[in-house]
Amino acid sequence: MIADVLHTLKEQLPADVQLVAVSKFHPVERLMEAYEAGQRVFAESRPQELDRKVPQMPEDVQWHFIGHLQTNKLKLVLPHVCLVQSVDSLHLLQAIDAWGALHNCVIDILLELHLGSEATKQGFSEEEILSILAQPFANIRIRGLMGMATNTDDMAVVDQEFAKIEDLYNRIRREGRPDFDQLSIGMSADWPVAIRHQATMVRIGTDIFGTREY
Ligand SMILES: *Cc1c(COP(=O)(O)O)cnc(C)c1O
Repeated sequence: MIADVLHTLKEQLPADVQLVAVSKFHPVERLMEAYEAGQRVFAESRPQELDRKVPQMPEDVQWHFIGHLQTNKLKLVLPHVCLVQSVDSLHLLQAIDAWGALHNCVIDILLELHLGSEATKQGFSEEEILSILAQPFANIRIRGLMGMATNTDDMAVVDQEFAKIEDLYNRIRREGRPDFDQLSIGMSADWPVAIRHQATMVRIGTDIFGTREY
């Protein structure tokens, strides 16, 4: 039962850590079960899927986008979401900023830090993030960092990677950026490690909805 799982998760998470329910690949009926159990924050990773699900869910759902975003898909995503967690290129950042200027709004985003070793992992280096933070973007508000640890059972590796993103997060916060207050780390396999490293939100799919059928 999704309601039971959510209840148990909520009991284990510190009260100030936001639970983001990662609903990608799951049908709207399952999302509604979570909604009826009180869940309001959902995340999707594919633009078309998000665009299709949004009108089928109640209006008070807060949507996050966590997947790879191509600039020609912004119109399917940005009108719906309150946070884009997966900004991983300067090109995308500039396109979101331009979209915001055109639509007269400011878009909240997280910068994805490349963690872990897998060649396919996306994200910025620390240097790139610091350089982006030094630039002005009139229609973007950079709210914090997102990171995905290496997919491994070795929690010592995950621990090191989360320590690295936590350290960067704290360094940036010490510079005194009032809007920079979100650290999105931790998924089904590693969220207990993430909450020891100052996670402000965890992104959990499998633990809530079961395994995905791709
Ligand atoms: C799919 C996904 C998750 C959720 O992963 P689970 O292991 O199912 O909890 C979290 N973050 C991102 C960026 C994802 O793509």
